[in-house]
Amino acid sequence: MTPSDSVIAVDSNPPKEVAGCHAGEEVMRDAAEKAGKSAQLEQYDKDYPTGPHDQPQSMCPAFGSLRVGLRMRRTATVLSGSACCVYGLTFTSHFYGAKRTVGYVPFDSESLVTGKLFEDIREAVHELANPDEYDAVVVINLCVPTASGVPLDLLPREVNGVRVIGIDVPGFGVPTHAEAKDVLAGAMLGYARGEIQSGPVAKPESLTTDKTGQTVALVGEIFPVDAITISRMLGPMGLKAGPVIPTRQWRELYSALDCSAVAMLHPFYAATAREFKAAGRPLVGSAPVGVDGTRDWLAHLGDVLNLPKKKIDAAINAQLSAIRGVLEANPIDARITLSGYEGSELIVARLLIESGANVRYVGSACAKSDWSAHDCEWLESRGVSVKFRASLEDDLYAIDTFEPDIAIGTTPVVQHAKELSIPSLYFTNLISARPLMGVAGAGSLAQVINTAVAGRERFRSMESFFAGVGSGTKTGIWTPQIIERHGMGEPG
Ligand code: SF4
Repeated sequence: MTPSDSVIAVDSNPPKEVAGCHAGEEVMRDAAEKAGKSAQLEQYDKDYPTGPHDQPQSMCPAFGSLRVGLRMRRTATVLSGSACCVYGLTFTSHFYGAKRTVGYVPFDSESLVTGKLFEDIREAVHELANPDEYDAVVVINLCVPTASGVPLDLLPREVNGVRVIGIDVPGFGVPTHAEAKDVLAGAMLGYARGEIQSGPVAKPESLTTDKTGQTVALVGEIFPVDAITISRMLGPMGLKAGPVIPTRQWRELYSALDCSAVAMLHPFYAATAREFKAAGRPLVGSAPVGVDGTRDWLAHLGDVLNLPKKKIDAAINAQLSAIRGVLEANPIDARITLSGYEGSELIVARLLIESGANVRYVGSACAKSDWSAHDCEWLESRGVSVKFRASLEDDLYAIDTFEPDIAIGTTPVVQHAKELSIPSLYFTNLISARPLMGVAGAGSLAQVINTAVAGRERFRSMESFFAGVGSGTKTGIWTPQIIERHGMGEPG
């Protein structure tokens, strides 16, 4: 079928579509259900559960899927959504160093209502699908096309041998950008699993030199050194680290599915977990962080794979004293509140506690899952208040209540702490972009945290120097004319 053989009509009574985020979740969701997206939304509700009031404030969730697509080699990523959404998403992508073009299929009310938008998307896919350049083309429906029922599932499954993957990633169905990473990673894994079931697939490049040994696939965007550290840890058990999911190239999906077990290092990858389970792979939660975390994780992995106790003990013994030594040499003596939306908040908190920190609160924008349950239990047994689907208000309340020596969190959390002269660190850039696992991770947080805590006096002197500036009627420039017009303000 050529791109213009047929026109597929979408919902002829779309929502107040260009209102986007501002139309309200219920309006958009209701429209999407009427437009035939109920099954997809129900699956998202199961994968990424929220209560009635606990969708955290977050950036546009679609950023997670976009990022996964843009980081993958030989993959074209196309957005279908309102121009303002696409502007924000591309801006953020390039801010975070994407070196790829983001494809965009624009629309207006007419093309949305008549189904021409779907035609345009299909045409774009056909134009892009050059097997010399791409293994896959990913199309992401944002809020309005999802609410209007643009049927990406009716795109051809492949064009010229290039795989076509269409996903809906609406803000009213996928709560966080972390979980949106899972939407695309799971869709790709599902596609690759289907290919394997249909016949032989291309050999992963990583298998050309080393074809031996059982592997453990690693789920989560971890720091690159962590994969190497984990591989070394697994050596005494006769295992090695397999690919990291989300993968950087299509063929890695095959070797990921060929693993012996799956390490759910980031615990929110529900769709990814479902694909691995369907492939018959056992899954292990938590992560090898600190002494307790490493011992428990290696023991659990060994049990799951029915390895001899001698091998498991050998792997554990090779790690623990070295990790203990590094932790003792890099102590953290500070009261800490920690929050983030990466999904790795709980394992970071474990590491901080084993470094000596007094962690009072951990907030994660992600939901609790089977894969974070053990970490949650470990933290709560040490008196830590753990909040899943934490809102900004939860995080700020924790700072006000626990009065930490340092607050680790998202941008507005860091801002709030600074206003109180509390040293603070941005979780995504300064904490989660460091090694955490095993010996390499043991001392990696101490320096940045201790340096920040030591700067508290500087914050206090800045606070007294700038006292009152930049807030209330001291905000901006108040000329006599403005004061007269508004009856408020102070001359600057
Ligand atoms: S796609 Fe993102 S920015 Fe656009 S309306 Fe949805 S949540 Fe908002």
